[in-house]
Amino acid sequence: MRDDNCIFCKIIAGEIPSKTIFEDDDFKVVLDVSPATKGHALILPKGHYADIYELPEEIASKIFVLAKKMAVHMTEKLNCDGFNIIQNNKEVAGQTVFHFHMHLIPRYQEDGNGEKICWNHRNFSEEEFLDIQQKLNGMQPSR
Ligand code: AMP
Ligand code: ZN
Repeated sequence: MRDDNCIFCKIIAGEIPSKTIFEDDDFKVVLDVSPATKGHALILPKGHYADIYELPEEIASKIFVLAKKMAVHMTEKLNCDGFNIIQNNKEVAGQTVFHFHMHLIPRYQEDGNGEKICWNHRNFSEEEFLDIQQKLNGMQPSR
């Protein structure tokens, strides 16, 4: 449930300071210490799960509901013009703190970040698309 070497576990336990903007039984939401924009915040599950692969479905099912409520609340209070919700898993995808977290990033006209938080578009052939579709298609819907 907790990893003693984890900076976010320490934040959740109140052992290192953070600027909390919301807390309930499952989550703490804190301001990012190195924000992309005014109000950039992180949703932290209180349990230590390294990434989405470790995150229990029960917590996963609650987190986007909270993200939605936070986005509405933050947009109202900060008067931002848009919103990015970002969540990185594993080093190759840009994760630097290995306690699952979801970035809430209010966006403003002229906030200097570019319109899209950022990937390059690639070309795939029709065969490649079909191959990818075939590999991915077939997961059973949850009941
Ligand atoms: P990621 O790259 O998705 O793993 O994001 C990690 C985020 O955690 C970065 O945006 C950091 O600025 C943020 N961060 C690191 N340490 C702290 C801290 N002590 N308090 C708040 N945010 C932090
Ligand atoms: Zn942790």
